[in-house]
Amino acid sequence: MEYFTDHSEELEKENFDRYKAFKHTPYNKVKKMAEKLKGMNVLHINTAFNSGGVAEILKSQVPLEQSLGINSHWLVMKGSDEFFQITKKIHNELQGKKGSLSAHEKETYLQYNKDAAQELLDFFDGDKGNTLVILHDPQPLPMIEHIEGVPVISRIHIDLSNVNKTVLGFLKPLLLRADHVVVSDKRFLPKFIQKTKASISFPAIDAFTQKNIPLDKVQIRSILQTIGLDPDRPIATQVSRFDPWKDPEGVIEAYLIAKKKFPDLQLVLAGLIVAEDDPEAKGIYANLQKKYGSDSDIHLYGQKTPPGGISNEHFINALQTGSEVVIQKSIKEGFGLTVTEAMFKSQPVIGGNAGGIKHQIVHQKNGFIVNSPKACAKYMIELLTHPKIKKSMGKEARKTVEKHFLMPSLLLDHLNIYKKLVR
Ligand code: UDP
Repeated sequence: MEYFTDHSEELEKENFDRYKAFKHTPYNKVKKMAEKLKGMNVLHINTAFNSGGVAEILKSQVPLEQSLGINSHWLVMKGSDEFFQITKKIHNELQGKKGSLSAHEKETYLQYNKDAAQELLDFFDGDKGNTLVILHDPQPLPMIEHIEGVPVISRIHIDLSNVNKTVLGFLKPLLLRADHVVVSDKRFLPKFIQKTKASISFPAIDAFTQKNIPLDKVQIRSILQTIGLDPDRPIATQVSRFDPWKDPEGVIEAYLIAKKKFPDLQLVLAGLIVAEDDPEAKGIYANLQKKYGSDSDIHLYGQKTPPGGISNEHFINALQTGSEVVIQKSIKEGFGLTVTEAMFKSQPVIGGNAGGIKHQIVHQKNGFIVNSPKACAKYMIELLTHPKIKKSMGKEARKTVEKHFLMPSLLLDHLNIYKKLVR
């Protein structure tokens, strides 16, 4: 295929029944609902296989749906550099950045999708019964104009709380064509979308991936050492793509304040760059390297893979579990799976006062919500000074994720939508 790569077969198999172990999830409801939908076809389409939250979700959602008897596929749409420059611009403007697309940019974005849609129609191979398509985020959205005869869901994962109206106006006719629109927060829903055609659904994590299954202390120590950290000194970590909305500079500012009180403190910004659909990351990483690379206690991970042959999953797992402080100081955030991942590992996360982070963190109960580097530093110092407080808040954090943000909750939301839409 020229425009798509079909990843459906290479995904690690999942067994939904393992979720029986988590008492607070809607396990039974999912099983019951899935019985009614067995054999239906779901086509998930996005533009990245290896980076960002959407890929993280699909890596588990697709095989879990398969394990429930649904015939789910995951197609990743490829793109040229120019296409991804334009779609990142759209992403940024949807999150509130000023500006607008040129006529050429609009044309390129629409035409690329039109061409890709032809290939997609071949994928159906004439069989459109019992099938629906989910277009994740704006990159593949214009294909909606060319897919006939099957319900199409637009699942927007980004923060639309302060959207640039010009870009939203441009996307409006596309979104209006969707049979259903799904966002992560009711404030993100554009006013022109009818409530009956919309759902709010929170992203979720998979308890059984290598990123989330518990590592023991010895493994964590060894991984931290291998990647160049000193496990005997405190570590503060933010795991994020190098992106202005994740405020890496703000994290460094907070760290420099906290470091005055804890001179031993090390900082990690982990955002392995696997390119695909995020062309901004390289430049941001290079700038930070130039500014802070000479400080041996600031560790910036922006290469393609972690040092020492460690897998990305174990790298993130060890950092989220083994750090004394976990930060996610985003200015805009659709949801923030990194917050969920760390909270599941019993970390009270210090999060920015943004979008989906506020659905996860209840200030001073299971973490902290901050509006500035200074406030971030204050709570970093609090966590470093009071391990007992950290432990009890961490327990709350874990409980929050078990109750609301594990895969069965997400699957139930999706199955409900599928049932409504599919013939
Ligand atoms: N991630 C990763 N390796 C990295 C940086 C990030 O695997 O070096 C993962 C992270 O663990 C999370 C996802 O990328 O699962 C980021 O999702 P999130 O919703 O936090 O942000 P997004 O990138 O979608 O804006």
